[in-house]
Amino acid sequence: MTKLETVGIMCQNCRKPFKTQKVISTNEFGGKRTDFHAHAAGPQPLIHQVYTCTHCGYSTMPREDGDYNTTLKESTSWKIKEEITPLLTVNKKTGETNPIPGSLKYEWAAKILEWESSGIEGDDIRKIADMYLRASWCCVDEKDTEAERYFRLKAAHAFDVALETYGEVEPEERAILTYLVGELYRRAGHVVVAQTWFDQVKQEVTDPKAQEWVVAAAEQQRTSPREWFG
Ligand SMILES: [Zn+2]
Repeated sequence: MTKLETVGIMCQNCRKPFKTQKVISTNEFGGKRTDFHAHAAGPQPLIHQVYTCTHCGYSTMPREDGDYNTTLKESTSWKIKEEITPLLTVNKKTGETNPIPGSLKYEWAAKILEWESSGIEGDDIRKIADMYLRASWCCVDEKDTEAERYFRLKAAHAFDVALETYGEVEPEERAILTYLVGELYRRAGHVVVAQTWFDQVKQEVTDPKAQEWVVAAAEQQRTSPREWFG
């Protein structure tokens, strides 16, 4: 079962404390979709793997070092105030902020990281791509197919830029990410574009034995696609 723990975090933006659920442990017993969306037995951890401040909407993925004490750029704080904070709604009875869908939390985290990154094309793009991918996975659980498609295309584009950016992707990851871009386009309905990505997977392989499964997966999804691995 997925284990959660309530933790208090000091918001990096508005400097107020907020409570969030931290994932202590989880599992993949619910299987894995062919876009690497893993399902847990019991509660799904995905929505708890991104933190959103209930006061201002500032969102971020958990930091390994637990240090949330850095300061955001002034321009980022201003954009959060303009674009994100107004989207928070309050429960009139309890006075608490209404729950925010996981897809929105990841989208906000991606936008904030884009605003924070230096503005150089490709900077932090790998992390941003991951956030949009996770937003699309949340949409599957939220049963919002239109938003799912939107986030799949955002993620595919961002992974594409990451693959083009020097130093963003390790050589041994290139085949897997190339496959993933193909699968994201396929799931978004861009079948022809997807095929060109699946065709490229073989050329990106660095370790034929260890990456045999990626080549097989690309061939599978190109010819007779499956929803789940295994
Ligand atoms: Zn805040």
